[in-house]
Amino acid sequence: MKLQTAVNAVFPPDCVCCGAPVETEFGLCANCWSDTPFITGPSCDQCGTPLPGSDPEPGLRCDDCMTIARPWDKGRAVFTYSGNGRKMVLRLKHGDQPAIARAAGKWMAAKVEPLMTDNTVIVPIPLHWWRLFRRKVNQSALLAQALANETQAFFAPDALKRIRKTASQDGKGREERFANLRDSIHPHPKRGHILVGRDILLVDDVMTSGATFAAAAQACHEAGAENVRVMALARVAKDA
Ligand SMILES: [Zn+2]
Ligand SMILES: [Zn+2]
Repeated sequence: MKLQTAVNAVFPPDCVCCGAPVETEFGLCANCWSDTPFITGPSCDQCGTPLPGSDPEPGLRCDDCMTIARPWDKGRAVFTYSGNGRKMVLRLKHGDQPAIARAAGKWMAAKVEPLMTDNTVIVPIPLHWWRLFRRKVNQSALLAQALANETQAFFAPDALKRIRKTASQDGKGREERFANLRDSIHPHPKRGHILVGRDILLVDDVMTSGATFAAAAQACHEAGAENVRVMALARVAKDA
């Protein structure tokens, strides 16, 4: 019996979503797996939202990505923001279930291949220091770190900086969300140089309108990044 097998027999690992015993660490039990809205079919190449149809064509775009300026070229999401997807994002945000980040790192790694090059730097969406102070955890940084661990890619946790506290995006329409975030994210004055000439992979927990990714991607381009791509753990789908 291998050591890990022996340890698991005595202390079975928990499902990261519901806490039920499971066989492998940082995974989901069968029930939670089937109730998690993983995006497995055709999806938008730029934002990861699921699209109808059965055969995944390369370079598909959703209606939003065809009409809204997206300052990045490709994007993926692991699941939609509903059911267990939403539940895990909220737990991660409140910092009470760090094992979710480890599991999410594996799920994101399984989808990230088309977004990565040898020149990729993984950068989390920054949180304003006041939010970080109150919440103790930047969930995007946890996710970006987990993805960097899985892929062995270069990780730059503080290449970007939130320069002002933005009002909550809740209850705002698309225009308001973009206006609220505009110019809120800049390259870090001391560490932003890391973005020059690199391929940037931005990581966030949830993509709703894309306003946050747009502000961050803009900042990367201003800093001299070669290209920008995005990965969200959860995508708010239009009909969700
Ligand atoms: Zn479970
Ligand atoms: Zn899209």
